[in-house]
Amino acid sequence: MDLKKYFHMNSGAGKNSYASNSKIQGLIICKSQSVRREAAVEAYLGTGWPATMSVADLGCSSGPTALLEVEDIMEAIERECVELRRQPPEFNLLLNDLYGNDFNAVFRSLPEFYSRRPGKGLCFVTGVPGTFYGRLFAAKSLHLVCSSSSLHWLSQMPEELQQKEGSPAACVNKGKVFISAGSPPCVAEAYRKQFHRDFTTFLRCRAEEIVRGGLMVLAFMSRKNREAAMMEDLYIWELLADALNAMASEVC
Ligand code: SAH
Repeated sequence: MDLKKYFHMNSGAGKNSYASNSKIQGLIICKSQSVRREAAVEAYLGTGWPATMSVADLGCSSGPTALLEVEDIMEAIERECVELRRQPPEFNLLLNDLYGNDFNAVFRSLPEFYSRRPGKGLCFVTGVPGTFYGRLFAAKSLHLVCSSSSLHWLSQMPEELQQKEGSPAACVNKGKVFISAGSPPCVAEAYRKQFHRDFTTFLRCRAEEIVRGGLMVLAFMSRKNREAAMMEDLYIWELLADALNAMASEVC
C-alpha cells in the first residue's frame, strides 16, 4: 500500500478530528518553543538577514497546531528585528503534509491568523502537499525548517515484516502493530532499520533544499532507554492492535 497516498489525520473539527484531539502535540510544540525561537533568530542572522525568509513546517496537519510553529518563528524574528532596529523580513510560510491532509481547514483559518498580526510585516502562506521523504522544495530555497510530532511516521511498514508473494516475511510480528513486549528481537531491529533508511532520505532531501546557514528544528518522540518494548510506550499500540484484530475477526 502506498501510504503517502492514503494516510492523513482525520479532517474537519468534529469530535474525532485531529483538530479536536491534538492537545499532546500542542504541549510538545510549547515545550520546544524556546529552542525553535533561538534557532529562528540564528537562522535569520546566519543566512545574512534575508529580505524574504522561507520557513517550512513539515507535517503541519490541520487544526489549532497547524500554524503554531510558524507563528512562533515569525514572532521571534520580528522581536529580534525591533532590538536590531532593522526592517523585519517578509515571510514565505510553506505548510507541508500528506496529500489527504485537510489543507482547506488550514486555509479557512488564515483570516483569523492574519488578524492576530496587526501592524506586523507581510507573510504569505502556501500549502505544499507531498511526502517529506522526497524533495518538496526547490534547491537552496529554505532558511528554516521545523517539524513537530511527525518524523516518527515511517514511509512504510518495515520491509522485513512484509510478506512477499510466495515467500514468508523475514521476521514475523503476528497480531501486533508495533514493537510489543512479546515481539521477537528482529521486530525492533526491522523498525530501527526502516527509521534509519527514512531519516537518511529525509536529511538528504533537506540538505538540497536548505540554504547555507539555514537550520532545522525537529521535535519528535523517542524512547527513554534502550529497551525497545517499554510498557508505558506500548499501552496505546496494544489497544490499537486488539481493536484491529477484533474488527478483522468480525470480517472473516
Ligand atoms: N505538526 C503537527 C501535526 C503532527 S501529526 C502537530 O504538532 O500537531 C503528524 C503529521 O505528519 C500528520 O498530519 C501526518 O499526515 C504528517 N505526515 C506523516 N508522514 C508524513 C510524510 N511522509 N510527509 C508529510 N507529512 C507527513
